[in-house]
Amino acid sequence: MNTWVYIDHFGGEIVPASWEALGLAKTYGKATALVFGNASLAQTALEYGADEVILVEDPALADYRAETFASTLSALAKDGTPALILLPSTTRTREIAAMSAIDLNSGVLTDVTNLEQNGETFVATRPIYEGKLMEKTVCAATPQFVTLRARAFPKPAREAGRSGEVKKAPASGSALTEVVGFTPAETNVNLADAGVVVAGGRGVSNNPAEGFRLIGELASLLGGAVGASRAVVDEGHIPYAHQVGQTGKVIAPDLYIAAGVSGAIQHVVGMRNAKVVVAINKDAEAPIFGVSRYGVVGDLFSILPALSAAFRKRLGK
Ligand SMILES: Cc1cc2nc3c(=O)[nH]c(=O)nc-3n(C[C@H](O)[C@H](O)[C@H](O)COP(=O)(O)OP(=O)(O)OC[C@H]3O[C@@H](n4cnc5c(N)ncnc54)[C@H](O)[C@@H]3O)c2cc1C
Repeated sequence: MNTWVYIDHFGGEIVPASWEALGLAKTYGKATALVFGNASLAQTALEYGADEVILVEDPALADYRAETFASTLSALAKDGTPALILLPSTTRTREIAAMSAIDLNSGVLTDVTNLEQNGETFVATRPIYEGKLMEKTVCAATPQFVTLRARAFPKPAREAGRSGEVKKAPASGSALTEVVGFTPAETNVNLADAGVVVAGGRGVSNNPAEGFRLIGELASLLGGAVGASRAVVDEGHIPYAHQVGQTGKVIAPDLYIAAGVSGAIQHVVGMRNAKVVVAINKDAEAPIFGVSRYGVVGDLFSILPALSAAFRKRLGK
């Protein structure tokens, strides 16, 4: 079976879950990577295991616009007739997959965390109602579009210098919009791909600058990112891009350290898929301890520096 994988990037900056999608595609047989607008990613896709690459380099795809990207994908899929098209779950791919599925009279299963092959169909598992239920769904039409949640599938090892065929294809459709410029967001935090997240909650509120300095110090020691509860975002101590939870990001890092977070359900739905959760809280009865593997009852302003010092020693940093 040939599975297509859409390699998502913004101006050449790759979404790492694209490689996770490629790894999953390989478990079903042949994997074809689709690279739009950035030739250098074609070689990287081969090194991450693609059997072949369809490369579309066209000025029409120089800037991301849903209409040209989706119509190009639709035209290629009409010719190539893949049974399954995998995409990493991002804001862009949700647009592209939805528009292309309409073109091809098919459907999209989004934010999938498991995908079992059953003959020609695939049974997708996806969390619904903020993760309270896991839904199993199949798409009756082909090609089946599936967007995969970041870090739900293993990333394949990269094999430097691996080669394969790169087929060039043209873009299709015409753009209805024109990109006149980009203004980078003030904070560019990639919580979804971080292996370690250290998050702060209202427990820092007595001294938020110092609290987030300590949180940032531990996060950077562990090569991780800084998360936050909504309470501290609403209080203006940290930008929304850091918020974890129902109205923030839903993440699944290897390690989540929650400092001064009470563990309200709206926060927990965003982090309960972390492999290991460590909670630091002054209140031994805080609900966050109910979803944590390890708990430290104490003041975050003394526990965080002690943890950082211990990691610094252990890691030789
Ligand atoms: C529709 C809706 C959507 C929401 N979406 C989200 C969301 O996406 N994300 C989210 O986080 N929340 C969300 N919320 C808000 C959520 O209900 C909680 O209000 C919020 O998560 C509480 O944040 P917190 O744990 O930081 O604060 P609190 O609940 O006030 O908890 C602070 C904790 O810090 C501890 N503490 C205090 N001082 C210290 C100290 N010095 N050292 C150690 N511990 C200390 C306290 O014991 C307490 O447990 C949403 C709410 C609604 C209604």
